[in-house]
Amino acid sequence: MTLNDLHNVVSALPDTSLMPALFVGHGSPMNALRNNEFTTTWGNVSKLLPHPRAIVCISAHWETKGTYVTADLKPKTIHDFYRFPRELYKQEYPASGSPELAEQIINNIENPKIESSLEWGLDHGTWSVLKYLYPNADVPVIQISIDHYKDTQWHYNLAKQLAFLRTKGVLVVGSGNMVHNLRMVQLENDDFNTEFGYDWAFELNDIFKNKLLEANFKDLINYRNLHNKASLAIPTPEHYIPMLYALGMIRDEEEIKIFNDKIIAGSLSMTSFIIGG
Ligand code: ZN
Repeated sequence: MTLNDLHNVVSALPDTSLMPALFVGHGSPMNALRNNEFTTTWGNVSKLLPHPRAIVCISAHWETKGTYVTADLKPKTIHDFYRFPRELYKQEYPASGSPELAEQIINNIENPKIESSLEWGLDHGTWSVLKYLYPNADVPVIQISIDHYKDTQWHYNLAKQLAFLRTKGVLVVGSGNMVHNLRMVQLENDDFNTEFGYDWAFELNDIFKNKLLEANFKDLINYRNLHNKASLAIPTPEHYIPMLYALGMIRDEEEIKIFNDKIIAGSLSMTSFIIGG
């Protein structure tokens, strides 16, 4: 999808206060240092969105038992990766938090009971993307954790309860990767930019896209039945689940537009989408 296409999508949004929502395939933490076609698109996407009051990010990198929301006013930048260049550990994303919004979420949702956390902050699933979406870090950001012990249907149901945030000027961002198998990653030219992938990675990526465009969320929730190699694309679900949170934001008949549609490093999809208003 080109920037022009994206512009057409967003300018066609009805004039309402309903905030768009995003799923972003975040790929390698190195994106935070290396500008590439994916990060360029991230920067362009935000220019086309209404300025949000706050951002709620569901990142693949915060898994918990139970569901938590970050509630500190100054969330710390978490460098939750190993064996990367020192420069990456110096990256800071100094956005403020929003304890009020955290409280609003806690109060709005009775089941499950969401608890506040002062332990976490912003992990790289959040800041490596927001660095490009909002480089000035001038929008408050909170994260909601992924309960590791719940199934995909449960997460989708919680996402639907969180959809009220779109009417409050809040940008909901799911940050993961629909196809994500780190054990099978192969680097060509030592980058995460060149398109290449296993056949099953392309096949699964196409299936996911088609299901998205058909609005067949039931099949996406029950992804294991979609392909005999689905377990290679999703050996563990934490990078897939943020996509279900974006799905839960969708209202009837709302269009989904796909961008950054590429397989990289053999077994990662950068495929992302925007949900209009
Ligand atoms: Zn990740």
